[in-house]
Amino acid sequence: MKFIDLTAQYRSIKKDIDKAVGETINNGSFILGKNAEKLEKRIARFTGAKEGVGVASGTDALFLSLKALGVEPGDEVITTPFSFVATAEVIANCGARPVFVDIEPRTFNIDANKIERVITKKTKAVIPVHLYGQMADMAAIMRMAKGKGLAVVEDAAQALGAKQAIANRTKTAGSFGDTACFSFFPTKNLGAYGDAGMIVTGDSALAQKIKMLRNHGSVKKYRHESLSFSSRLDELQAAILLAKLQYLKKWNGKRRRMAAVYNRAFANVEEIQTPFIAQGNNHIYHQYTIRTKKRDELAEFLKQNNVPTAIHYPLPLHLQPAFKYLGYKKGDFPEAERAAKEVLSLSIYPELKKSEQKKIITAVKNFFNAK
Ligand SMILES: *Cc1c(COP(=O)(O)O)cnc(C)c1O
Repeated sequence: MKFIDLTAQYRSIKKDIDKAVGETINNGSFILGKNAEKLEKRIARFTGAKEGVGVASGTDALFLSLKALGVEPGDEVITTPFSFVATAEVIANCGARPVFVDIEPRTFNIDANKIERVITKKTKAVIPVHLYGQMADMAAIMRMAKGKGLAVVEDAAQALGAKQAIANRTKTAGSFGDTACFSFFPTKNLGAYGDAGMIVTGDSALAQKIKMLRNHGSVKKYRHESLSFSSRLDELQAAILLAKLQYLKKWNGKRRRMAAVYNRAFANVEEIQTPFIAQGNNHIYHQYTIRTKKRDELAEFLKQNNVPTAIHYPLPLHLQPAFKYLGYKKGDFPEAERAAKEVLSLSIYPELKKSEQKKIITAVKNFFNAK
């Protein structure tokens, strides 16, 4: 068994994909063409944002968002220490300083109540991450950011299609921040066959700026308004993503049903904490991540029983060697550190077979000796 089998999805929609790829190659346009434009519109509509800007990866989506919002050396940007490294890496790559805030232990997302106390005169922006496919507390974060004049960039790399109900209104991940960033890394809920990413925004001027930044600071060919670099969405990936997008709601629904099967199976296993859903949230289970004090022993037992698992993430960002220069130390963010020791992700993807999920559940229960 594999943790995720990407070929199973290809087999299930081979006709669509082969047609999309064949047509694109025949058209002879390969970078930022009709497919990219169509995908930008579709993702914007899907998320309830006004505009989409296709880029080369989720990491670039974050980096270009910060650049377009004017984050520069001397600035500070607040984020969570419990995420993929890209979230904080892009802050440093703008010359700014990542400032971490501990997580809320049940959702693993940034603790909105702890943000205000680290705001300084240098703070420019906040990057909440919608970890595992569940949104951070956006009502609280947006309220606080508006009050303090901070920009908000949603790291929605794991959350395309996630929703949150606020005051009787349901909004989609990507419709809150100044920008929101999506990744189409192959294992994400909507995955390309290579790298790709997208920024969505409700601000047309900001979208224009990002379009310029992703393409050598250029709007008009061979005229360059500013120095930048190249981070463009290619037509083959856009065609593949367009072909897949029509299935995304169905696939996210399948993930939710699989999560419900896990939840029921583990309901009576005291030593397992199944995913907690904050009020109003609609989780799309990019990962199904349980929590247990016996994480390392469980992972080893499952490995021996041919059940692969993954840890998202084993070392919080403030303790990464790369961020040593920031001066954080062990104990600074106890919830993130505890989570890093206790989380374990079990396989969840639309094509995971019932028999495979059953095998995973049985193995987990065998470890805890539960009925
Ligand atoms: C995947 C991911 C990214 C980076 O996206 P890439 O497309 O791999 O560059 C950033 N943040 C989070 C939380 C992610 O899961």
